[in-house]
Amino acid sequence: MAKINENYLLLPENYIFSEIEARIQKFKKENPDANIIDLGIGDVTRPLPKAVIEAFHRAVDEMGRPETFRGYGPEQGYKFLIEKIIKYDYEKRNIELSVDEVFISDGAKCDIANIQELFDVNNRVAVLDPVYPVYVETNVMAGRAGKPTDGKYENIVYLPCKEENNFIPPLPDEKVDLIYLCYPNNPTGTVLTKKELKKWVDYAHENESIILYDGAYEAFIQEKNIPHSIYEIEDAKEVAIEFRSFSKTAGFTGVRCAYCVVPLQAKAKDNKGRKHSLNKLWRRRQAAKFNGVSYPVQVAASAVYTKRGQREIKESIEYYLNNAKIMRKALKKIGLKAYGGVNAPYIWIKTPNGMNSWDFFDYLLENAQIVGTPGIGFGPSGEGYFRITAFNTRENTKEAMKRLEDL
Ligand code: PLP
Repeated sequence: MAKINENYLLLPENYIFSEIEARIQKFKKENPDANIIDLGIGDVTRPLPKAVIEAFHRAVDEMGRPETFRGYGPEQGYKFLIEKIIKYDYEKRNIELSVDEVFISDGAKCDIANIQELFDVNNRVAVLDPVYPVYVETNVMAGRAGKPTDGKYENIVYLPCKEENNFIPPLPDEKVDLIYLCYPNNPTGTVLTKKELKKWVDYAHENESIILYDGAYEAFIQEKNIPHSIYEIEDAKEVAIEFRSFSKTAGFTGVRCAYCVVPLQAKAKDNKGRKHSLNKLWRRRQAAKFNGVSYPVQVAASAVYTKRGQREIKESIEYYLNNAKIMRKALKKIGLKAYGGVNAPYIWIKTPNGMNSWDFFDYLLENAQIVGTPGIGFGPSGEGYFRITAFNTRENTKEAMKRLEDL
């Protein structure tokens, strides 16, 4: 009989969102008339920008005419999109990239999940705690994490980000090889300054580590001194791979388009100590396992960079950030400590009176019919915290905050 990859047995059985759903269903059964407001949504709710929709339609029509039909495209992505990304997302910030360094994909989740394939199973991995679960789980599947104990994996280095350290991750005490950073952060909604980020680039140079920098929420950055790309830090190209997505930037969660930057300078060693280009390995990996993103989707994504596209995505992001502002104000008024929500669509609430995060979940569901995400679901340091998001409608956001104030 075929044997399974036993690493999969090390994954937690119950994904947090299934447990949340089960509790909501139970509550609904007992209270069929309850009007539940979901502030746990990690998905956008505003539709695609009009500029994107029009370009999308045009490209679909091209696919229906023999003279403009396209089959397989380049697996790295079409040049017309890559060039726009370089010009608008990087050159505007004085970062130079060549077209060989940007890879278009169908999602930052897949890229971040797949990138670990380039690295040896014995690499030591560090993650922020709390953390977007994909970084940990894909390393578990690959056999890099070891056994689970007390909500942690024995071979993963967890970097606690809590109120006590202002959510700034400490440098690891031991040498690590791969470091996952996510800024603006999901779930805490916090950001790092250039000075803080430079510490990580310096650490990576000193320890010959690679930083996997998840910038899925880059478009939400509002404050001036916050880096939009890790490559704003000098010499970061040698030690960092960056991931970006059109999902939260332009409402592409259901359309699927993202990209990652693997600089030509980024290198890692083989067992004999010889250095290899990560760009070359990633290109090889993509050629073997990926056939590119569909042409209409790439045309749609490139419309994000038109003047109108830029104006429209800005409007949606402002809409979400205004929701966040309303939530921050209400939380402050009722005396709940909350973080994030300024440069990110996430607000990280400290639960009151030392309540654990699942008890707070139940309390809000039962007394205000509000749903959020218990912090513990993002890692041990998430205990005692609770995530709400700015992705609901203005009306629901206001109603939820009113309920909290009344409570
Ligand atoms: N990275 C982070 C931190 C996320 O929160 C998400 C989605 O929620 C993703 C990546 C996934 O992005 P995509 O939709 O491009 O796969």
